[in-house]
Amino acid sequence: MKPIPTPREYTHSGESRPLTGLREIRMNISETGETVKLGLAMLRDALPVTPDGAVLTLVSSDDAWFAARNAAEQGYILTHDGGTLTLAARQPMGFFYGLMTLLQLAEDMPETFVIRDRPEIRWRGVMNTLWAESGIMSYDFGDGLPAMEKRLAVLLDTCARYKLNLVYADAFGFRHERFPGYDAFMKRFTDLAKIRGVRVMAGGYGMGYGQSGHGQNVFMGKVFRNRDPYPDGELYDCIGTYDPPNPDIRGRSYGTCLSNNALTDDKIDEMRQYLLATGVNTLYLHNMDSDEIHEPLWLARCERCRKRYPNDSLYAEDGCAGAFAAFYDLLLTGLRESVPDVLICPVSPGYAYAVRSTDWTFEKCRRFWGAVMRYMKCRDGVIPLFRELFHNHDDNRLRYDMLDESIPSGFGSVFFSGGDGFYSDKYFVPSAVVTKTMERAELIVCANGSALQRPTQLMNAEYLWNPDGSAFYNADIPDNYTDFMAFYNAILATTHRPEGLYGELLETACRRLWGDTDGAVLAEVYRIHGARYECPVFTVCSVELYTRRTRVTFPVRWDDPSAEEQLPQMRARYAETVTLNTAARSRLFGVTAPDAEFLREGLAVVSELCQLMVRYIDAYRMAAEWFTAGVPLEGGFRESVRAIVDDAEAYRKRLAESGRTAVDPLGGAIARRDELFDLIAYNAGLILQSVETNLRIPENRRPDVTRQWW
Ligand SMILES: [Zn+2]
Repeated sequence: MKPIPTPREYTHSGESRPLTGLREIRMNISETGETVKLGLAMLRDALPVTPDGAVLTLVSSDDAWFAARNAAEQGYILTHDGGTLTLAARQPMGFFYGLMTLLQLAEDMPETFVIRDRPEIRWRGVMNTLWAESGIMSYDFGDGLPAMEKRLAVLLDTCARYKLNLVYADAFGFRHERFPGYDAFMKRFTDLAKIRGVRVMAGGYGMGYGQSGHGQNVFMGKVFRNRDPYPDGELYDCIGTYDPPNPDIRGRSYGTCLSNNALTDDKIDEMRQYLLATGVNTLYLHNMDSDEIHEPLWLARCERCRKRYPNDSLYAEDGCAGAFAAFYDLLLTGLRESVPDVLICPVSPGYAYAVRSTDWTFEKCRRFWGAVMRYMKCRDGVIPLFRELFHNHDDNRLRYDMLDESIPSGFGSVFFSGGDGFYSDKYFVPSAVVTKTMERAELIVCANGSALQRPTQLMNAEYLWNPDGSAFYNADIPDNYTDFMAFYNAILATTHRPEGLYGELLETACRRLWGDTDGAVLAEVYRIHGARYECPVFTVCSVELYTRRTRVTFPVRWDDPSAEEQLPQMRARYAETVTLNTAARSRLFGVTAPDAEFLREGLAVVSELCQLMVRYIDAYRMAAEWFTAGVPLEGGFRESVRAIVDDAEAYRKRLAESGRTAVDPLGGAIARRDELFDLIAYNAGLILQSVETNLRIPENRRPDVTRQWW
């Protein structure tokens, strides 16, 4: 099998055969450290000491090749010549990654080879261990913390073997001990991560705190307010979220003042406590969640800000950019005292979108962040993140190349890449194949590749390391905005399924993750799709089922007839899901891989939900037609609706008896199970009530719990 990720330069000759043992490992390097020791231990686990085995020598190298991008830090040269293996590198991560490549090659090793390998993207990340920002595909399957930690250890092993080095672990907010045992659990996780060279990122706000308004345990931190004197004085307004065409500037008193040092110190204090308690060393820092940046945001600043930063320009050192630069300098110097390797990734104002941002808007974002980073004193500890950005709309220049010109100190991407819990919940989304449009980024965190998307993790690993030299598949990526977006959207929608991605690469990924037999079956499961490219669904809370937690409570409420138009489309989706889930489940029968049990259970629970949804929608439509057109109800209608209520309640009881309880306060991968079966029973009950009382919208309804993200 070919290694994942594909090495950057790999020449080989002669026959391939398995490497069955090592005779000796010679260490011609001065210092090893924990990371190299771990790599050697993993190698020794796989390869016993045998008298006729190969000799491996580790040497520090001064080869000029190590001047290439990211080569000195993470690169390595691995050669094999008739039983003599040499691994040359400059730093521990280089040696470690060389050992990981050797581990993969050992299965089938050419007689002679030379590999020169280094990552194009310095920080290569996946989401998410807990709720994190957007989805529910967390590692918490409701079977307790120890079981979840076991899965997370496997995740870190996957990161190590396939050279991913960033995990977006949790969000949103910096409250430590957010559930009993959280700090200690996170510390164990970050300790394991550190040895593997993996940064652990957590998300929260630097200001704005928009999400906190929506309660529901979604925001996990303190909501800071502008007060003068701080912390007990009067509330006051300063800058705020400005999203044209909405003329309002929102959240102006929510910790937005850039001149209130006591306020900033208090924020630093919360962040510091979180970092120290958890061992997290990378902060994803949302500020106000403005995707664009425009003058009205800055013109709204308070008197104190006006005095300190008199310039009305967004880009001036004594204006908006200078104020943000000083803010990040304060954060960084404040945190570095306690956490020397801390990395701050500010996101917004002005993170820009591929589609929504016009070239003019993007240009403002680029100019603003270019100025912020130019004015900063500690810019080596700050990497501003933008959304996935591809071509300019008019001149088709690649926006990441343009950012590279403006922000030489480095920038990154939070890549909402499909399968992200925001745009879609598809499980296999090889969107990282477009990384070469973003290869000037220093950091890319893909908003997919979570617990139920392990093959997608390896897609990310492949293309974030080696964006355009894959041995499996290299997309012929269109060089203009319109054609590119068509290509990209087809990849996201999984309607475009190149054989290189869905064949050999998916197959190889699954075999590496689950072994030959189970891997082949799981590859099939991840390929299953419906007539309109629907996928099997493993979680009841899902964009695919219109049940995403952050948008709607229940997609087909009886007391909200506005959903009626969508009923045929929804019914079709639920019916299709039952078919797909049944097919996936029968394939998984007999698979013993540890993940398979939860996948099978998830498929069964979702099937049950979707069958009830189909019955409920049928009842809904009949009742609605009776109300609107007087179409008489069939005999037995009431009994059949009563049966929906009873069946939903009975299944809910069964779920409760199964004993799964999430550690994650947001419900982990079993989020909304109880709630959605309850909502079916409740809404079916409302239909009965309407029919009894002849009132289309019944009285005495439960208040709807609407949740929003911002
Ligand atoms: Zn202010």
